Amino acid sequence: MHGADEPAVGSPPAGMKPFEAVNHFFNQAADLIGLPESSRVLLSTPTRELRVELPLRRDDGSLEVFIGYRVQHDNSRGPYKGGIRYHPTADLDEVRALASLMTWKTAIVDVPYGGAKGGIEVDTSRLSRSELERLTRRYTRAISDIIGPHTDIPAPDMATNAQVMAWIVDEYSQQHGFYPGVVTGKPIELGGSLGRAEATGTGCIICLDQVLHAAGRDRSEISVAIQGFGNVGRSAAHEAAERGYRVVAVSDVHGGIVTSDPSGPGLHVAAVIEHADATGSVIGAPGTDTLSPGELLELEVDVLIPAAVAGVINPGNVDRVRAEFIVEGANGPITPRADAALAARGVHIVPDILANAGGVTVSYFEWVQNLQRFTWSRQRVLGELESTLTAAYRTTSRRSEQLEIPLRQAAFVVGLERVRDASALRGLL
Ligand code: NAD
Repeated sequence: MHGADEPAVGSPPAGMKPFEAVNHFFNQAADLIGLPESSRVLLSTPTRELRVELPLRRDDGSLEVFIGYRVQHDNSRGPYKGGIRYHPTADLDEVRALASLMTWKTAIVDVPYGGAKGGIEVDTSRLSRSELERLTRRYTRAISDIIGPHTDIPAPDMATNAQVMAWIVDEYSQQHGFYPGVVTGKPIELGGSLGRAEATGTGCIICLDQVLHAAGRDRSEISVAIQGFGNVGRSAAHEAAERGYRVVAVSDVHGGIVTSDPSGPGLHVAAVIEHADATGSVIGAPGTDTLSPGELLELEVDVLIPAAVAGVINPGNVDRVRAEFIVEGANGPITPRADAALAARGVHIVPDILANAGGVTVSYFEWVQNLQRFTWSRQRVLGELESTLTAAYRTTSRRSEQLEIPLRQAAFVVGLERVRDASALRGLL
């Protein structure tokens, strides 16, 4: 999905792979804080990369082999932390890029973790539920020596969910004893936290509140379009509607929908969620017109929230993106060249490492509850989320004003300084 063959719009080279794209932003921040070359190598290189072979006996008796990864990027500020993604594109480079983003993200929200990510190169729509369970258990056994509640704590990401986390807890516990804190994003009945399921999408809207407040804009006049209607997209849609924004369009892998009444109050988000649960897609929800997959990104809206896959805003479509504010629910939805073009046009972008950090923030609260054997109320979780993200946003925004740089560069600067300082104090730099 990366637009490698489109017109040049800025200095970043075309067709960067995901880890190269993350390091492009890392190096911009490293330049700004004058980080020496040796420190750059240490802070950008993953500590450990594990590649595992995962044989799966299919329901029909045949054997299929999948490849999985766990990349541990940095643990100078605390145990490794990061989700597990099941997706055909989840190769070593993508997982490495996502692991690096986690290092900067946990530092920006100042939770005591490092960064990691896991993945299996698989299209889960081809698997039955029991095949998914067997593959998850095989993956857990394959990585179980390097994860643990005090070493590396996975969580859900694309195509993984609370049920997948429950299988990981069960498999891990058979070998190591009962440790629900080995993963976060678990079902409530198994040590999950109230508020975790909606944390990432809610966090996007907390950041949206902040960026609009700074721009002197009022919620009631703001229209929002959201790409992706999974964990992040649907909870962002729900929270945006709850806070009084007009959510006018949403999409999923099958296509998109837009309200058929442009001057009305926007989509009835609860009805769209119900429709998507019943049919497997947002398409056909009552009171809506259908959009092609790419159209949503080009709608005339105030706010765009890409909450699906990486590289969707690229040099091939950036000139047609009309939103004034973009909140990155997904990781890496804007390629470096498109980012440069949008920044030049004055589009306000809340970067992934800040905008979608609500997930890891409430994962941290879940882990704390597991370690303390104590349960927090939903109200407490969401209150702490709001104050943690608001503080992170304000710190980033201050840095952006001081250095006269966009929020993305400022977020990388804040994250990098904190990881650099911790590494230096530990004697690593
Ligand atoms: P999910 O699997 O729950 O949902 C993904 C959604 O994207 C689905 O609605 C799917 O239909 C849609 N989609 C997939 N491919 C698409 C395409 N090409 N075009 C349009 N829509 C497409 O995944 P999720 O957990 O919501 O994660 C979405 C993004 O948010 C990912 O980039 C992930 O890394 C990031 N993220 C997730 C969390 C979390 O807590 N789940 C936290 C931080 C960041």
